[in-house]
Amino acid sequence: MSRKLNGTARETLRAAGVSVADWRERNHMGDTWMGDVCGCPDDRCIGLHHEGPDDCECLPALLSDPIEQWNNDAIEALHVDTAIKELAEHALQDCTELRTSVLDFADLLAATDGAGLTHAEIAGRLRNLARGQW
Ligand SMILES: [Zn+2]
Ligand SMILES: [Zn+2]
Repeated sequence: MSRKLNGTARETLRAAGVSVADWRERNHMGDTWMGDVCGCPDDRCIGLHHEGPDDCECLPALLSDPIEQWNNDAIEALHVDTAIKELAEHALQDCTELRTSVLDFADLLAATDGAGLTHAEIAGRLRNLARGQW
């Protein structure tokens, strides 16, 4: 089922400098938004995660997740290991433990020419590293 994003979602995306098309792409959707109208990629957010159409906390949280934000750019980048190092240096500078894990992962990717992983798998590994740290 396709839906249009509501005004609050559009405003939140605009404030974060993310276009609606970017947001669809970042969530692996084609030309049609398949999430909820509040901007959450979950197609049933309103009524489950929150009550009203304008008080979604998923969208702002996803937009502020540094890995989520970095994901789109880095996936397009040729030098993924370099992009990951930049992520560690900038976004994660206050989180020593995670930063070290991410830098180790970047070294592994550099040493093994991507370790045979697709970009989506690399992003998934990074999410797993981050899980439990935030
Ligand atoms: Zn949600
Ligand atoms: Zn929501």
